[in-house]
Amino acid sequence: MTQVPGPPPANQLLIGLARLGQAVRMEAWRNAGPHNLSPLQADIVTLLQSKPRPVRQGEIVEALASTPPTVSDAVKVLRKKELLEATRDPGDARAQLLGLTEAGRAEAGRLTAQSETLTGALGALSGPDFAAMLRGTTTLMRELQDRRAIPVSQMCLTCRFFVPRAHPEETGRPHHCNYVDAPFGDAELRVSCPDHETA
Ligand code: SF4
Repeated sequence: MTQVPGPPPANQLLIGLARLGQAVRMEAWRNAGPHNLSPLQADIVTLLQSKPRPVRQGEIVEALASTPPTVSDAVKVLRKKELLEATRDPGDARAQLLGLTEAGRAEAGRLTAQSETLTGALGALSGPDFAAMLRGTTTLMRELQDRRAIPVSQMCLTCRFFVPRAHPEETGRPHHCNYVDAPFGDAELRVSCPDHETA
């Protein structure tokens, strides 16, 4: 059989993933808004909006799979921009809790509206393609986390509430989340879940 010429398929996949990452990052920079937010600053504002109460900086580091110095720098800038405020943690006098100011909540509302370019492009995927891509993405992330190549994310595959293949495949929702006690399919796998608890 004639071989397809060129680099091996793994290279092609890696090049494709790099291009996608580039597109997501570029959209984040384009969406810097009135406060000229970096992608990480925008992620922090969006994350804090999803939390019912202010959180410690360490929780932000964990949720965004980042590092303490990187998050610390971004938090300092956000406080200067008056989008974020710190209060004393009643449970530990030495610790601080971080939450959004009123301006921060307004900015979070703006950021929550997804980029039309990205959502439009995702709309080109069929249901099965979307599910397969999410499944492949979580598998790769898990593998890279195990190899310590990327920080740990709050995703289903590392969550103590996740029960894979708990239901028949034919149902289309073979997995089970014990947190909400409900079945779900590959298309609903989470890579960033506020209810995640490490297995
Ligand atoms: S709590 Fe969140 S991360 Fe955990 S299994 Fe349920 S949906 Fe997935």
